[in-house]
Amino acid sequence: MTLSSPSAPETLPASRARVVPRVLLRLAAMALNYPWYCVFALICTLGATVFTLLTPRLLGLAVDQLHLLGTEQGVDVPGSPTGLVSLAVLIVMVAALRGLLTGLQGFLGEATAQNIGHDLRLAFFDKLQRLSFDFHDKNHSGDLIARGMLDLEGCRGFLESGILRAVTLILLLGLGTWQVLSADLVLGLLSLSFVPIVLITAGRMGYVLRLTWTRLQEYMSEMSLKMEESLQGMRVVRAFSAKDFELAKFDEVGIRALKISNQRIAIRMRSISLMNFMYYLSMALVLLVGGRKVMEGVITIGLLTEVITFMAILQQPVRQVGMIVNSSARASSSAKRLFEVLDCEPSLRDLPGAQPLRQPDGVLQFDKVSFAYPSARDVPVLKNVSFKLEPGKTLAVVGMSGSGKSTLARLIGRFYDVSSGRISIGDQDIRHVTLDSLRQSVSLVQQETFLFDISAADNIRYGRPDADIHQVTQVGNAAQIDADLTVFRQGYATRVGERGSRLSGGQRQRLSIARGLLVEPSILILDDTTSALDSLTEQKVRQALREQADNKACIIIAHRLSSVMHADEILVLEAGAIVERGCHDQLLAKKGFYHYLWQLQAGTLSLPDLNVDQDLLGRSRQQFVQGVPS
Ligand code: ATP
Repeated sequence: MTLSSPSAPETLPASRARVVPRVLLRLAAMALNYPWYCVFALICTLGATVFTLLTPRLLGLAVDQLHLLGTEQGVDVPGSPTGLVSLAVLIVMVAALRGLLTGLQGFLGEATAQNIGHDLRLAFFDKLQRLSFDFHDKNHSGDLIARGMLDLEGCRGFLESGILRAVTLILLLGLGTWQVLSADLVLGLLSLSFVPIVLITAGRMGYVLRLTWTRLQEYMSEMSLKMEESLQGMRVVRAFSAKDFELAKFDEVGIRALKISNQRIAIRMRSISLMNFMYYLSMALVLLVGGRKVMEGVITIGLLTEVITFMAILQQPVRQVGMIVNSSARASSSAKRLFEVLDCEPSLRDLPGAQPLRQPDGVLQFDKVSFAYPSARDVPVLKNVSFKLEPGKTLAVVGMSGSGKSTLARLIGRFYDVSSGRISIGDQDIRHVTLDSLRQSVSLVQQETFLFDISAADNIRYGRPDADIHQVTQVGNAAQIDADLTVFRQGYATRVGERGSRLSGGQRQRLSIARGLLVEPSILILDDTTSALDSLTEQKVRQALREQADNKACIIIAHRLSSVMHADEILVLEAGAIVERGCHDQLLAKKGFYHYLWQLQAGTLSLPDLNVDQDLLGRSRQQFVQGVPS
């Protein structure tokens, strides 16, 4: 099933309710993925309608029989008790068949809707997995969850009952019109006189309901967003006693949603009342004119009964017009919001002709790389960055907070594309290799650890599900998490809780290092992954990593300079540019910014010296740019 259009941008357009039957048609067309269900559902609907319309005719005949029996006692067919019994049996059989077909129609409709709902859910989840980081930077997960759950339910509801109800109503009106008009033109016209008003009211109600549903769904998204954020930040909320503040924020949107919901109900009820009134007015007219015609002997009482029964049958579908319009209004705004995501194409994907990475252990090279985030294109985060990293070597990146270290790491796994310059591994530009092969070779252990609520072992083997427990414990050992886990009663089988809440910050970091190691990447990037470790444990992790590293290229990003002092080369980043580079001793000898940071961390700077960093940084940058670092 293809749901996406290839050229849609990776941003969500603002949703506005225009006249949007196309989106409903697109949704309804998805039923064609289940052609047999559709064909049988339509056959059942048609059959049920025909049997429904037979009932007034049979009732009319029965009334005429009764009338004859009452006035012409003893006359045989037509007007015999036998004929009446046959008609009664026929009416029961028709009712039974109608009931059977209606049940089947309901089952098939629901089954089709459930299947489409499943397809949509899967397609939506798959799309979220494939969309790039910059999509997720721009779109809040609370909003996406609301689209994937609430909006999807809105579409499913319409598919489940809305479509078949609408088809039933159209068939009843279509076939019934022919039936009543052919029975008596005037009574037929009177019995259908409410239809134009119903159609106009339904159209107006549909338009207004679409607008209110769109607004309501936006509020629902906002509420999911707030709920998700406050749940994620529960510890912060409690720590700052901000319960009331959070509640007020949530309630503010809740009240807006409630108001619009009430408006929606009022619109629906007003329209439904008008439609019902018009319906009963038509029925009264039919009774009045029909009764007179019966009295004048123009028509039989049976025919009047037929027309009245037809109208009585229409009563339920007419009542359902409100539901049909409401569910189609909800579905059209829901489907629009759902398709907005489904139609987004990942901005980062395999380029045509992309090849697998040929030399995963080739030299990693940044060649005059500059970068700005798509959401802030005029703010360069990396400027003209160049370096080479050979297999088996370690490169460290240090610098002030916000200087671009994590950004540099993200570019290597092609989570974003460079704005200018080139990143290559071996002789291949990473833009021309397949994303899967690149990400299998580059393991990025991120600054913010994220663990799934599964066992510690399964978290570690997340990138390599086939790894056996021996391989898992081996990397657990290297990351110094092994001893911690064996203390737990269930060891590696211990569930770590939501986002690893049952582990300490340091344990979470070490578990994610183990996860990064297990995939045996050729380039391992550790982005400030030991910041929560004590110095002794950190040194043990570093030592184990050095032993494990064999032919891997390692990039270590850290604030603590003791963590990087053994690296083969250290880059000092400032505002996205490299201001110093060299090994630890060379950088100390330069007495530049690195030297200053080193002294600062060693605690050998006196208080007045603490103000010199900006001057020093400026000097370092100038010297570096001029190519004459001291
Ligand atoms: P730290 O040491 O604090 O982790 P860092 O050196 O790793 O910082 P980055 O995370 O690379 O810094 O951020 C560099 C700049 O890019 C910052 O100004 C930050 O605000 C900006 N930035 C980071 N991520 C994004 C994003 N997804 N969209 C837009 N700007 C971003």
